[in-house]
Amino acid sequence: MRILGIETSCDETGIAIYDSDLGILSNELYSQIDLHSKYGGVVPELASRDHLSKIIPLIEDALTKSQLKKTDIDAIAYTAGPGLVGALMVGATVASGLAFSWGIPAIPIHHMEGHLLAPMLEDNKPSYPFVCLLVSGGHTMLVEVLDFGTYNILGESVDDAAGEAFDKTAKIMGLGYPGGPQISKLAELSLIEDDSYPRPMTNKSGLDFSFSGLKTHTANIVNKSSKDQLALANIANAFQRAVVDTLMIKSKRALKLTGHSRLVIAGGVSANKYLRTAAQKMMSEINGEVFYPRHEYCTDNGAMIAYVGFERFKRKIYNENDLSVRVYPRYPLDKLSQFS
Ligand code: ATP
Ligand code: MG
Ligand code: FE
Repeated sequence: MRILGIETSCDETGIAIYDSDLGILSNELYSQIDLHSKYGGVVPELASRDHLSKIIPLIEDALTKSQLKKTDIDAIAYTAGPGLVGALMVGATVASGLAFSWGIPAIPIHHMEGHLLAPMLEDNKPSYPFVCLLVSGGHTMLVEVLDFGTYNILGESVDDAAGEAFDKTAKIMGLGYPGGPQISKLAELSLIEDDSYPRPMTNKSGLDFSFSGLKTHTANIVNKSSKDQLALANIANAFQRAVVDTLMIKSKRALKLTGHSRLVIAGGVSANKYLRTAAQKMMSEINGEVFYPRHEYCTDNGAMIAYVGFERFKRKIYNENDLSVRVYPRYPLDKLSQFS
């Protein structure tokens, strides 16, 4: 069985082919970072147009690199949401049009389910059940994953997502976009372990997050600092330690509450080196295991969409003769069955 996966929810055009016996055969990615960086954020209309010009050549590349013909593909999975409506429309219309002309199903996929299950593409993958810390540019969530498709949201951010906090803080510090990798790199130059920054909402019970106050706290310190490289490195490090510590405190709490011993960390922020080290340490202390995707599957990609498409195709969780183009800019992860 071979599934073509299409991801266009934001500023990355991701195309991949998943083979049920061989795994990922090709994983093409075009990032629009250069296009948007001069505006300091993603410009939705430019994103849609760029997806439109890149999507077909990338699909052709994916087929060529996998040495496959269009007749070798059994289904097309595409990101239906959440995301930018115009960007989602490009992937959804191309997927639906190709699927109709190739006589195969088009399967709408939840972008965060893609991130959540990306670690399943690794040799060292978690078995169900587990707790997933989903940390990306637009989301911060703790999810109890009982089985494929059964997700209970335990907590989420009430304001900025973790990745968004990295991006906004990097901007305040005069670093480029995306901010996560820049802050992480700068933090490595720091030689002090400053734990004076707030760990938001950790004194309260519950599993929700809030990062906007920490961002403001950091901004105030940046404004009062000398802004030389070492001063900024110390700030980057203290900020990163506060974010990671907060994520770990809440993850540990979620594991205790649910009784699970496996933690999965996924989404763009899961690429963070300090977060991985901290998670490793925390999980070995409580005799649990931690899993994450390889770096290229942490941020947006077509591979994770193709994989979820395969799981849905195999279980026949799609509408056989549905010709409608489905996009859901707002799409709750725990209500998937109400949408497809
Ligand atoms: P969503 O998936 O919620 O719709 P998105 O698709 O924009 O949002 P991702 O592609 O999963 O988000 O991840 C991008 C985010 O990950 C950015 O905010 C980026 O700063 C962050 N990020 C990437 N690498 C790192 C890193 N090494 N450390 C911290 N953050 C990182
Ligand atoms: Mg992106
Ligand atoms: Fe994403």
